[in-house]
Amino acid sequence: MTREAEYAGGMMDKRLQTQLWRVLLVMAIGGIASSPFVSLSADDSPATETGLLTRESQHLRLTSDVDDPALLDDLVQSFDDALPQWLAFWNVPESRATNWKIQAYLMQNVDTFRRSGALPDYLPRFDHGYSTPHTVWIRYQDTTYYNRHLVLHEGVHSLAFELFGAGGPSWYMEGTAELLSLHRDRVPTPSKQPPSGLSANAPVLAQSIDAFTINQLPRNRLDTPGWGRYKIVARHRDAGTLPTLKSVLKLPTALNGEVEAYTWCWAASSLFTQSPESREAFLEAAGRGKDRTEAFTSEFYRDVADQWPVLSARWRLLLHDLDYGFDWSRHNLNLSTSDSRASGSPIQMSVTPDQAWQSVGVWFPKGAKLRFAAEGRCHVSPEWVSEPAGITLEYNRGTPLGQLQVCVLPIATPAGATIPRLDVRPVITRTDVARTIAESTNSSDSSTAVLGSQIIEIKEPSWVLLRINLPAGHKPIASVNNDSPEAYRVQIAPTR
Ligand SMILES: [Zn+2]
Repeated sequence: MTREAEYAGGMMDKRLQTQLWRVLLVMAIGGIASSPFVSLSADDSPATETGLLTRESQHLRLTSDVDDPALLDDLVQSFDDALPQWLAFWNVPESRATNWKIQAYLMQNVDTFRRSGALPDYLPRFDHGYSTPHTVWIRYQDTTYYNRHLVLHEGVHSLAFELFGAGGPSWYMEGTAELLSLHRDRVPTPSKQPPSGLSANAPVLAQSIDAFTINQLPRNRLDTPGWGRYKIVARHRDAGTLPTLKSVLKLPTALNGEVEAYTWCWAASSLFTQSPESREAFLEAAGRGKDRTEAFTSEFYRDVADQWPVLSARWRLLLHDLDYGFDWSRHNLNLSTSDSRASGSPIQMSVTPDQAWQSVGVWFPKGAKLRFAAEGRCHVSPEWVSEPAGITLEYNRGTPLGQLQVCVLPIATPAGATIPRLDVRPVITRTDVARTIAESTNSSDSSTAVLGSQIIEIKEPSWVLLRINLPAGHKPIASVNNDSPEAYRVQIAPTR
């Protein structure tokens, strides 16, 4: 309570401080002042006495024992930059949060904050951060990225209290907070690279031009140092212990800061917001955030129940592919429970490098047997062109780059707590290619399609997907020859 009272006092000349802060920030970006914030905080004098620094922006007052003014400046600025993006995500007008402001403590030595009463004894122990409606506490992390991530994460919880009464049950609350704190930092301009030899927490604010954006997937490790969620996904993928989508929704209503659980909540929230089947229901659910019980989840589940097999299938594909560079724009997979049943006639389709998995467009009943033929070329890198068998000089996740792959994806949602491994196979092998070349020298057939020797048997009603094996962040290389577009042409023939 003392803290809250002091906080209210600090708000009195907030508007003036904010204006000053903004002016000086512009000067800092222009290189006029390197650390202009020193005398701005309302309680600078007590802060100096206790060795704490305070930085203040329109929406965040940050107090810390970390002697890194540039980091603290970065954190309050990032918080203010994130706020309008959070509101836009929830479709809430900016005016709802004009006067919203919270207190944050970034703590290196937790005892300092306990002694001063800033960290009350009644709070539970936590490894990373903790939030209440008006105050958040963050344990100092080794990288600028992760300090920022945690300030934003706890800030999202506080904002959910403000806007919706609370953030819903754990899976939803943590998933949303992770989604909205995963961010891409401002990119330094090439001419103003920070001098070499700076620490991991070196400021980038003064050298920055590119916008700071939340709800971004990391392109590489350098985008999110310290975050490490993809490592968890890869470990479970290798061990065959990835959770089903339903089991994520059944996580305890109170998670105890377990990073693994947060990973699944975040991935599920990313899926729900990116899938046309669930986006609206997921965002609408935020308005019921005051309800932190299982009733919240039941209502959300009811809203998307018709589409659950599709969502569950998307979840399996997501976890199979989730890695640095994963980009939702490459995963616009058309998948529907109302896809028609395969008629038994041959199907022709083009598989293109701009998308990952691409559906054949129908579902296949149990007992169907499929045989494939394929032809065509596609750049897998500026230097390399591949055909459906792939190139053996370069590999992506253990299989040849450019290889045409098939995935038989059961429509039924997997039972149990973990998802079965995805059934992904090459369509055309090198042996198939060698055989076709040998046969074509003895025949007058001018077709270049290679017939795959493998027969795929459908064991339960399934969608059939095809893709060109390319790295997660692959950007298609423009074809130099418009007469032969970048694609594999595939023929799928039912067989006995
Ligand atoms: Zn949280």
